[in-house]
Amino acid sequence: MAKKKVAIIGAGITGLTTAFYLKKAGIPFHIFEKTARAGGVIETVQKNGFTYEKGPNSGVLANIETVEFFEELGDRCPPELAGNDANKRLIWKNGKWHPLPSGIIGGITTPLFTWKDKLRLLGEPFRKKGMNPNETLSEMVIRRMGQSFLDYAIDPFILGIYAGDPAYIVPKYALPKLYQLEQDYGSFIGGAIKKKRQKQTPEEKKVTRKIFSTEGGLQQLIETLVEIIDAENITYNCSPLSVQKVAQHHYVVTNENNKESFTHVVSTAGSEGLPVLFPFIEPRKWEPITRLKYAAVTEVAIGFKKWNGISLKAFGGLIPFKEKRNILGILFMSTLFKNRAPEGGALLTTFVGGMRRPDLALLKDDALYDLIMKELAITMKIKNTAPDLFEYTTHRRAIAQYGADSEERFKTIASLELQHQGLYLGGNIRDGIGLADRIKQAHFMAEDIILNEL
Ligand SMILES: Cc1cc2nc3c(=O)[nH]c(=O)nc-3n(C[C@H](O)[C@H](O)[C@H](O)COP(=O)(O)OP(=O)(O)OC[C@H]3O[C@@H](n4cnc5c(N)ncnc54)[C@H](O)[C@@H]3O)c2cc1C
Repeated sequence: MAKKKVAIIGAGITGLTTAFYLKKAGIPFHIFEKTARAGGVIETVQKNGFTYEKGPNSGVLANIETVEFFEELGDRCPPELAGNDANKRLIWKNGKWHPLPSGIIGGITTPLFTWKDKLRLLGEPFRKKGMNPNETLSEMVIRRMGQSFLDYAIDPFILGIYAGDPAYIVPKYALPKLYQLEQDYGSFIGGAIKKKRQKQTPEEKKVTRKIFSTEGGLQQLIETLVEIIDAENITYNCSPLSVQKVAQHHYVVTNENNKESFTHVVSTAGSEGLPVLFPFIEPRKWEPITRLKYAAVTEVAIGFKKWNGISLKAFGGLIPFKEKRNILGILFMSTLFKNRAPEGGALLTTFVGGMRRPDLALLKDDALYDLIMKELAITMKIKNTAPDLFEYTTHRRAIAQYGADSEERFKTIASLELQHQGLYLGGNIRDGIGLADRIKQAHFMAEDIILNEL
């Protein structure tokens, strides 16, 4: 087993990106995918003049690895960046949308936050730093900023990203940059100002945090990756896999009656499937990983060939849990990216469910339609119009929730990887939940395989 050969489990963005870098380095690999297609939760559909996503709608150029990944793809698949309208985010309060303020004047005049909290914010740089690493996001925000900032800025933000509950999410694991800002500078505001003043490296300058998709939807990125890594290197509809360990850096992957040896195995599977995939690891050892909670979400694409509702010049609107509506938020997809709806029309994506309303993620057909259309009539002021597109996708295990149990999970993953050399436990069980997190993780897993001698 002198030569490296890598088995990758899963053809989502993590598995395909890992394969992309291995291919570039000339290391042989094979991807095993249990479904009939590549992309994992990424899937773009064209129907009735609309182009909609069934999974993620966009990513953020949030790290240098994602920026460089697109640079390496070059003309084969450039990112499609959302325009300036994407900088405006709306928050629902008392029956109206309000822009989330981004500057001082907006921050003073906005009705989203109470006067008491606005004044209290002046003292934020002088408040003591938190000492509890497992403090929840709610606790942290109330301590530093006040209840109304939690309810009308942080809560909707967490609903938008995690479909989560700030009383469960722990910043140290879920929002490490925010956590570190307080740890390093003692203040969010002071830290943000100091960071802004610091001279940026050329790399940091490239990390614009712009919103991206790819032309024609994220499926285009998947198709490009499959083309580059070569479809022959992927087995679709693979039967339930089982990985056996023969020695360090020697694993046998069994698929139907085939057995194949690999020096490395990269898993991108969700937590629930891991004990079956790796029977050589005692079931009890998986417990800190399989305990990971996921939010259930139903994602609904709604298209109108002629739009007659409110202005869509924004990224979209988020609905704080406190407002007791039945949707989590609405993305204005046809504003963000080209050719998502016919001229003069609109494509919206809305989400129901999440950690605090999992019951709604289970609604189907007429019940779901009635609920969504009632919510859109109120929030988007649509006048008696039936949509020209109404398609939904239910994700029972959509978004991993990084709570207080994360540290034990991360330690377990690190210890299993150390004990079983050549094994990589990637995917959403660690390193963050967004597309940019997945690309960065794949970059580092591939780099580790490429650089380390057997
Ligand atoms: C509804 C939804 C909306 C989202 N929105 C956004 C967003 O707007 N922005 C953002 O940045 N991120 C978003 N995300 C998160 C982002 O989509 C994911 O982090 C990312 O796509 C996950 O990629 P992955 O390859 O790690 O996992 P997956 O896409 O889940 O791929 C894993 C693959 O492994 C396969 N697999 C699993 N087990 C096995 C096995 N035993 N054998 C063989 N194959 C196996 C699966 O079939 C799948 O194809 C969203 C996620 C969801 C669900």
